[in-house]
Amino acid sequence: MKTQVLDKHQTDVAAEILKNGGVVGIPTETVYGLAADALNGEAVAKIFKAKGRPADNPLIVHIAELSDIEAFGLVRELPESAIKLAKEFWPGPLTMIMKRTDVIPREVSAGLDTVAIRLPSHPLAREIIKLAGTPLAAPSANLSGSPSPTTARHVLNDMDGKIDAVLDGGQSEVGVESTVITLAGETPRLLRPGGITVEQLREVLGEVEVDDAVLHRLADGAEAASPGMKYKHYAPRADVILLKCSDEDFINYINKHASDGVCALCCDEDLFLLKTKTVSLGRRGDYLTHARHLFDCLRRIDGNKTIHTVYSRLPSTEGVGLAVYNRLIRAAGFEVKEL
Ligand code: AMP
Ligand code: MG
Repeated sequence: MKTQVLDKHQTDVAAEILKNGGVVGIPTETVYGLAADALNGEAVAKIFKAKGRPADNPLIVHIAELSDIEAFGLVRELPESAIKLAKEFWPGPLTMIMKRTDVIPREVSAGLDTVAIRLPSHPLAREIIKLAGTPLAAPSANLSGSPSPTTARHVLNDMDGKIDAVLDGGQSEVGVESTVITLAGETPRLLRPGGITVEQLREVLGEVEVDDAVLHRLADGAEAASPGMKYKHYAPRADVILLKCSDEDFINYINKHASDGVCALCCDEDLFLLKTKTVSLGRRGDYLTHARHLFDCLRRIDGNKTIHTVYSRLPSTEGVGLAVYNRLIRAAGFEVKEL
């Protein structure tokens, strides 16, 4: 299959492919998504094939307007909490899980009785959904297990020849996947941290639980509330070692272990102090920028075949820091070295 590269004026071409059951990489504010008609099981199955995604990992359904939920009959009931969150954070990087109807194909829900829904803020994503005239199932447009794509180039690196098209809408603004909250249980629960922070969610809803899988490795055999959490995600080929230490010890430790195969995933302030290869997430403490750059940094590290070890600070769990922490702790296989 030849993968077409579309520019931002070709949303109509993307929509036509989607209407016909094809698969298109689309820009969103979080990361690039691999989109197909969410109400067409056969089209959705192509997403799983292109990504090599395990069939038990459900997809997020993307809509263009809040009213699409009722217009397409996606959920059994729209909880009060969903309306409150939508008012505050939609369009934006927040996914809400609700009880689904039978309109949702089993390919999308992967056997669960719930559906994950998001209204993205990226104008091109919304335009494509509107023109396609159907909600779009769209997981991140990477090969399963590799870092999520934040540019059309990243999508092509993983998907060239496997999908019908990719629409180039520039770099994703948020850079990490959406925050996922389930509203299907008694108490709202954060399943995945992202651009909307747990602090922001609590301001609107009061109590919000944080699922164990956000911060910790799931116990063997434990059921994951969000099936995606049980898979090894976001891992570059090199070993990632997270260091919990002072800024001074961070520099000294890495310089002591410097060699050709070592790279530091660091902050701008460290660049002149480190005697190894470096990839910077941005200014120290600027968690929004760290989130935006994280996956590109991991992909750049992957692109250098000589690198076998990556050292990084253990990220903060504050604000959007938690989203970076969640991705890096998985990349590191949950190991933290305390100096
Ligand atoms: P991605 O589209 O790659 O960002 O992955 C979607 C994430 O949402 C995965 O971690 C899924 O496990 C999660 N997800 C999607 N639908 C559901 C659902 N119905 N219940 C729980 N988690 C879900
Ligand atoms: Mg993904």
